[in-house]
Amino acid sequence: MAKISLDEVRELINGLLEEEVLRSGIRFRLPAPVASRNTGDVLWSRLKSVHPWIKHPREILPAARSVIVFALPLSAEAVESNVEGEEPSIQWLKEYLVGNKIIEKVGRRVAEELRNWGFKSIAIMPTHNFDVRSLTASWSHRHAGYVCGLGTFGLNNMLITPKGCAVRLGTILTEAVVEETPRPISEYCLEKKGISCGICVRRCPVSAFSAWEGSGKFRCFSRLTEIAIRYYKVLHGYADACGKCCAGLPCSLRIP
Ligand code: SF4
Ligand code: SF4
Repeated sequence: MAKISLDEVRELINGLLEEEVLRSGIRFRLPAPVASRNTGDVLWSRLKSVHPWIKHPREILPAARSVIVFALPLSAEAVESNVEGEEPSIQWLKEYLVGNKIIEKVGRRVAEELRNWGFKSIAIMPTHNFDVRSLTASWSHRHAGYVCGLGTFGLNNMLITPKGCAVRLGTILTEAVVEETPRPISEYCLEKKGISCGICVRRCPVSAFSAWEGSGKFRCFSRLTEIAIRYYKVLHGYADACGKCCAGLPCSLRIP
């Protein structure tokens, strides 16, 4: 089977994103970074052995040969506006909502296009596909992004991409064989590189990172739920977001 080049996929995704971003009137920082990895890569099985609730791509689409992950970078304005205070900025919450809609639409259109080229393909919903009791999900765009080589994890559990960690992520599974992205050869997070930082951890208003796997992620979830309910009428949408641990950081907008 012929291989599809990463440039072709990048062009397809960014072309569709540009149309939607223009329509939104928001200055999302395009072009979006895009990465791909074969479903035969051993890291997919390793990921499942560490997080058994995350499905192998072939459990979702049995014919899948490649996973494509892309990052829609939030605007510099959204990041700037979310630095001060404990309350999330309206711009951040708005971009979270609009960004999710764009990713859902573009993911669907990319999958459709790949199907037109003759390959079984599906897009995975950008969010809200998790179990609210255990806070586990059958897919993690961040982990998929890591396997695909889109970036490395920060101390804040976010993926630091070439456009920073202030991004929203989307995934497409396809039967097409897409050229693979080389994985980063070193950590992007300063702290993980041995350079003192930890700003993201200190910025969390509910100290969620002090015991993330214990009560921390539940404290974060309660805060996001409370924010979503509080801003529902203002934003006409369920913005369960906060982003204080993604704004005002050396890795918010770029690789530090
Ligand atoms: S703020 Fe510093 S410690 Fe946190 S993820 Fe970014 S580089 Fe790493
Ligand atoms: S999203 Fe907000 S509450 Fe959750 S970990 Fe980040 S800063 Fe803390």
